[in-house]
Amino acid sequence: MKKIAVFTSGGDAPGMNACIRAVVRTAVFHKLEVMGIRHGYDGMINDEFIPMNAKSVSGIIHRGGTILKTARSQEFMTEAGRKKAKQNLEKHGIEGLVAIGGDGTFRGALELSKICSIPIAGCPGTIDNDLVGTDFTIGYDTAINTVVDAVDKIRDTAESHDRLFFVEVMGRDAGLIALRSGIGSGAEAILISEAKTDMDKLIKHLQEARKDKSSKIVIVSEQGGTSSVFKISDEVKKALPYYDIRVSVLGHVQRGGNPSCMDRVNSSRIGFSAVEALMTGKKNVMIGIINNKIAYTPFENAVKHINELHPDLVRMMSVLAI
Ligand code: ATP
Repeated sequence: MKKIAVFTSGGDAPGMNACIRAVVRTAVFHKLEVMGIRHGYDGMINDEFIPMNAKSVSGIIHRGGTILKTARSQEFMTEAGRKKAKQNLEKHGIEGLVAIGGDGTFRGALELSKICSIPIAGCPGTIDNDLVGTDFTIGYDTAINTVVDAVDKIRDTAESHDRLFFVEVMGRDAGLIALRSGIGSGAEAILISEAKTDMDKLIKHLQEARKDKSSKIVIVSEQGGTSSVFKISDEVKKALPYYDIRVSVLGHVQRGGNPSCMDRVNSSRIGFSAVEALMTGKKNVMIGIINNKIAYTPFENAVKHINELHPDLVRMMSVLAI
């Protein structure tokens, strides 16, 4: 293998830059040529290939977002689009590809692999932590720390005014951000997309919540749109009119910011191992970290969503919120 390319795709996640840096520098160390593809699959189709070297990834390990930019590509969903992408990869003599993104990115990689024999190594870059084959995805740790920081601040105002706050966090299909950040911020309740919200139980819990607790925080993962957090808070307001209720939707701040140290280290390990995986003949696998060891999971398994939340965490949550 003489030449590889790297790209980021789907939603951006803090730590993607650290991963790009590791890919480029590992490739340079092994005397491979390396190109970056800007704007994900769109850039692969539109020929946005740029040569990269050790210097082009200087001073980026601490930055959120992605220097290669990212995109959600409609054209790549079509066979014609994927054929154009394949032609460009071949034109540039690419012999190995590193894809940094989430489940959609790996579904795309699987489709590409049906018409193109270039081996692909995937790096799990998504704040959702919903991929099979890694304990933590790139960006998840930073995102939950951002949520905890924000909730700490919201708690100051909740406490001063004796208010009940509903805080909506990201995670349409996976409540992992809600669960961890809810535990980390000492929330009264966590409402997640995996379980239907039991309004009677929630209202009873809030009714019985200790009188001496001056602030109350309920974390809600986006459940089919932001409207649901307002619907839930309206219902609680009707049942418990004595509560002074506010809603806070955290939104895109959860994607941004400097990556945490854990995300920087994990991203570096994953990017480094992705290049070495390609060099040792692995193809169409996602690189993850399980029990602190590098693990390889075929794309078709990696994209199966994690639907079950850690039962110990769920049980502990309800005990600690009394
Ligand atoms: P995030 O988890 O942050 O949303 P993601 O990688 O899952 O990241 P998506 O937008 O779902 O983000 O996927 C990225 C891109 O992968 C899509 O915009 C599309 O171009 C491509 N893609 C996704 N699914 C397929 C598919 N079934 N066939 C071909 N391409 C796909």
